[in-house]
Amino acid sequence: FAASEKRLAFLFGGLRALDADLRARGSRLIVRRGDPATELARLVSETGATAVFAEEDVWPYARRRDTAVAALAPLRLTAGLTIHPSDVVRKADGGVYTVFTPYSRAWKALPPPRRSDLLTPQHLASQRLGPAVDLASLPIPDKPVLPASVPFPPGELEALRRLAAFTGLSPRSSVARPPSSVHHYADDRNRMDLEGTSRLSPYLRFGMISARQCAVAALEALASAPNDAARPGATTWLNELIWREFYTAILYHFPNVLQEAFQPELRAIPWSNDPAQFAAWCEGRTGYPIVDAAMQQLVETGWMHNRARMIVASFLVKDLLIDWRWGERFFMEHLIDGDPAANNGGWQWTAGVGTDAAPYFRVFNPTLQAARFDPDGAYVRRWLPELARVPARHIHAPWLMPPDVQRQAGCIIGQDYPAPIVDHATARERVLAAYKTR
Ligand code: FAD
Repeated sequence: FAASEKRLAFLFGGLRALDADLRARGSRLIVRRGDPATELARLVSETGATAVFAEEDVWPYARRRDTAVAALAPLRLTAGLTIHPSDVVRKADGGVYTVFTPYSRAWKALPPPRRSDLLTPQHLASQRLGPAVDLASLPIPDKPVLPASVPFPPGELEALRRLAAFTGLSPRSSVARPPSSVHHYADDRNRMDLEGTSRLSPYLRFGMISARQCAVAALEALASAPNDAARPGATTWLNELIWREFYTAILYHFPNVLQEAFQPELRAIPWSNDPAQFAAWCEGRTGYPIVDAAMQQLVETGWMHNRARMIVASFLVKDLLIDWRWGERFFMEHLIDGDPAANNGGWQWTAGVGTDAAPYFRVFNPTLQAARFDPDGAYVRRWLPELARVPARHIHAPWLMPPDVQRQAGCIIGQDYPAPIVDHATARERVLAAYKTR
């Protein structure tokens, strides 16, 4: 995948924050460029280190890289990308789970993560690291620059602040100040017009916060839920963290999902793959406001709401009959939380070709989804100013506005905003036929 410029900028910003934290403790980050195995072997000989510690990653590139490093340096991989390593959550007979619900049941049966296991900056505040060895280091690249339109300041402190704000838990305490966002999460998480989710995904993606820290906070928020109505929020949020672990495990056990559908019988769908329609989707010009608003959010901020991801993915695959791998690639080129496992899992699930039985005949209706999860059109208006004055009853299907209403709203369809590039009902019939002939 081509790396998104925003994702790289976010990573470099995080490295700068890490370097500053290390310097405050009398150490620093050493940056080298080149083949990882050769460079690490060189560092080992320069320092006389007896071990190189790194967190294990599961995607095929990382596994190839770590095998190469281990051949030249004393590499010790540690778990941490997920709370329970992908190899550990298995069926009683040792088999691998390929359906989420039984996987999550087995996951929850393992010992829960505890606050006492966590290492936080507070724990480390008093510790000074050994004197910095005098080693050559390249500067952390100052380009690409993170645009001001990206509402994700990089670094661990920001991640901890977000977790505390979302769960109502202060980093030092296990008692929540309810009711906080997590307690409303079950109701609010699908609303694209609200900030009902944690917005921690970029930080989780780069280890600026750990899944373990998040899960501990979720369990504590559950324990301190003010009433029965608030409990499903924390449970649902924990479940989303388990989805992340599930897709990580799927990529670990089935690396071929990066190339093809998980379900063999859904690998030969006759896609239409129309380049002009694909361009309209990428550029937010489909004529379906909810799709176009979401694509605008992605390209401008490097992030998109989960419900919006499902809607635009479904639109690309089902309404435009375009190969889900085209959308998967475009997302990786733009998301700052772009994660090979979660992104692939999300695309395969939406296309109905992945692990969980998401029936392929379930085709999202973009207009109904929008009416339900952006009821007043605030999300659409925020990202598509040309629709700002369209009345609420027309906001999700502006092509139905009578001509005089279009004039009053300053939004002539086909001129100020595109007419729909496909008719949803017709497109639905077409995709159902295409999936049947696979
Ligand atoms: P919250 O709702 O607060 O959830 C907390 C955390 O749980 C998230 O930060 C994330 O790490 C994890 N999580 C939540 N939902 C999922 C999920 N469905 N699958 C896996 N992990 C989940 N997430 C990514 O991190 N990177 C991606 O590249 C990515 N691509 C996606 C592509 C598609 C087509 C779809 C449908 C979903 C994708 N997701 C991806 C999952 C999800 O949309 C994001 O994790 C979520 O929107 C991030 O917002 P948040 O941090 O506020 O999440």
